[in-house]
Amino acid sequence: MFESFEFSAVMPYVVAILGLVVVWQYYQMQIMAGRILAVDIFDRSGIRMYVYVVPEDEETCEACSVASGQVFLPSHVAKEGFSPLHGTCQRPVPCLGVLVGLYGGWLEARGIVERLRASAKKGWIRLSAEELRVLVNGQWEMSISAETDRVGVHILEAMCYEKINQVVSVTGYRYVINEAKEVRHLLLLVPAYLRLALLLVRSGEKEEALELIERFETRFPTRKRGPHFPTREQQNIMKTRKMFLLENRQEKVPA
Ligand SMILES: [Zn+2]
Repeated sequence: MFESFEFSAVMPYVVAILGLVVVWQYYQMQIMAGRILAVDIFDRSGIRMYVYVVPEDEETCEACSVASGQVFLPSHVAKEGFSPLHGTCQRPVPCLGVLVGLYGGWLEARGIVERLRASAKKGWIRLSAEELRVLVNGQWEMSISAETDRVGVHILEAMCYEKINQVVSVTGYRYVINEAKEVRHLLLLVPAYLRLALLLVRSGEKEEALELIERFETRFPTRKRGPHFPTREQQNIMKTRKMFLLENRQEKVPA
């Protein structure tokens, strides 16, 4: 008698908890199936513009190169079917572009927010490579948005400077890898790992490249999936680079 009374008293709570578990699992499945874009789970508060940037590289396709430097209003990014590209990427393994949300409290960024708002009907403007560099070279660290924008500015800077100053790019990508912890920054991780590994391989820093790829493999195990996880192709690229590095490990540069 007592036992059955206790059971019926607990039952509503058990049902409620089971319900929550089902909802949570459904949400997880939707994310994993790619039906909820990572941008949907971004915290958009405090974001006044999204900057799309693709590193200058011979490997980057025409459609992605043209799209680099576009700045969008958050309302434009939130539209259904939004894509920073006007065509489709022409590479079998898509080029690595990043969409970076910024508050942009410093002088140069405020100017861009104003220009963007003046084009509110269209929802986006395009910056030249030089204008992008002017943006990241501004006094952002002195502005009210320094904390909000720090990770974003570092990846923009890294991508803008690959051709001009590799040290800046390496530092920027490393910063993102070490410091990206908030959900809105997680999508920047894979591009940072992939670009940094490429830069290190190209400049012959074999041990550093190997160490980085091993860290990437630990961070993104192949048996797991997630909205900010690398694609199979991206994982294969890293695997190929690792094999190349291991095969060439013993080679010494002739004196
Ligand atoms: Zn492309």
